[in-house]
Amino acid sequence: MAESITLNICHLYPDLMDTYGDKGNIITLQKRCEWRDLKTTYTAISLGNVLEPNKFDIYFFGGGQDRQQGLIGKDLAEKSAAIKKAVESGAALLSICGGYQLLCNYFKTKDGETIDGIGLFDAHTIGTEDRMIQNLLIDINPKLEIEGKLIGFENHSGKTYLGSGVEPLGKVLVGAGNNGEDKTEGTIYKNAFGCYLHGSLLPKNPHFADYLIAKALERRFGKIELQPLDDNLEWEAHKYAIKRVWH
Ligand code: GLN
Repeated sequence: MAESITLNICHLYPDLMDTYGDKGNIITLQKRCEWRDLKTTYTAISLGNVLEPNKFDIYFFGGGQDRQQGLIGKDLAEKSAAIKKAVESGAALLSICGGYQLLCNYFKTKDGETIDGIGLFDAHTIGTEDRMIQNLLIDINPKLEIEGKLIGFENHSGKTYLGSGVEPLGKVLVGAGNNGEDKTEGTIYKNAFGCYLHGSLLPKNPHFADYLIAKALERRFGKIELQPLDDNLEWEAHKYAIKRVWH
């Protein structure tokens, strides 16, 4: 039964957007599936590639600098309908920092340029002179069916503000999060998530990795009880990373 289950992974713009070990998130998805005898496929989609809406179960969009974001803006607009269709139908999506900013309404850089986002998340980002660079620890939004904390590393100067009623991914315990002002971090829309948690995020947060895998598979295969893994080492890393910043 498990042999026929395949997680199709789409990596958006990996040639332009990949900072602070973002690729580790992909490796984590692949390994946690492989360890359970679940298959994965990996497809990189970048400038000029056609994105088919129903081909992928999970999308990953990493971080990058303002210049790369500027290069991607127009191309992403052409992929907007496909991404939104996938998310509406329940596909999972994880976006980090620069990728997250491009999935919001717009990003006004500190040089005054406005890069249009695709508005998957009702939020916008304003570039500032402050660099928010540190470990980032959050309590996961209790509205998600997953408990605990997420630990990562943030490095951004854009401040993101959520639209009214938009759910954050969590509440900041240590670090700046979305903007360093309102204690929100990241955002949620259906099974799509935006956040500032680099680091890589998923290797250090195995509960969130499995949550994303389960959600991504649910759309095609129904609710799946993922086989437990011997992941004591990952949990030790998670706890140690938290202990360094939170007593
Ligand atoms: N250029 C964006 C900022 O500094 C994103 C940076 C990143 O992805 N690490 O706000």
